[in-house]
Amino acid sequence: MSAKPSSGAAGTPRPPSRSRPMAREISQAVRQLASRMGVRLGLRKRRASFSWDGRSIYAFGRSDSDVIHDLAHLQCSEPHRRLLPEWGLGSDPGRVREAGYDAPRVGVIVDADEEESAASLLGILWERELGLDYMATFYLHGWTASAGTVDAVLRKDAAATRLRRWRLIRRNRPLVAFRPESVKEPSDA
Ligand SMILES: [Zn+2]
Repeated sequence: MSAKPSSGAAGTPRPPSRSRPMAREISQAVRQLASRMGVRLGLRKRRASFSWDGRSIYAFGRSDSDVIHDLAHLQCSEPHRRLLPEWGLGSDPGRVREAGYDAPRVGVIVDADEEESAASLLGILWERELGLDYMATFYLHGWTASAGTVDAVLRKDAAATRLRRWRLIRRNRPLVAFRPESVKEPSDA
């Protein structure tokens, strides 16, 4: 959806409105998805904050794909870390350099890498569900090193198994749901 340039009563061009930046940056579909999850998208300044500060996902000037990835992180987070900055996973190294802040990593998160790949896959499934360019994210997140297609990942990758176990996908489609407190690992049995 592209914004039409507005013009004044006498046809004088007006500068684009700065009052609703998110309306231009984040698509309606993604904002609706956030709303269905009960998640606020924040307009706070990038340099002053976390991607997720425990209350809202930073959205100003970010892409649909980035915001969806953070929604997926929220879904994949263990409940006790869900309201912590960056879900207790620690800071994104790029953002630390840029903003000079640090987010604490909480305790020992045994499966931080697994949680990252599960969030990546879940975000890609949301992008596919919403008709976005999910293959761009699929390439960007490095999935092509292990599989050529999303369906191949869904068939054989452990991230897909996790998403099923956490009840975040059904029949390979993403659900509006959050990871339950504890799910028995197959090896626990
Ligand atoms: Zn991530």
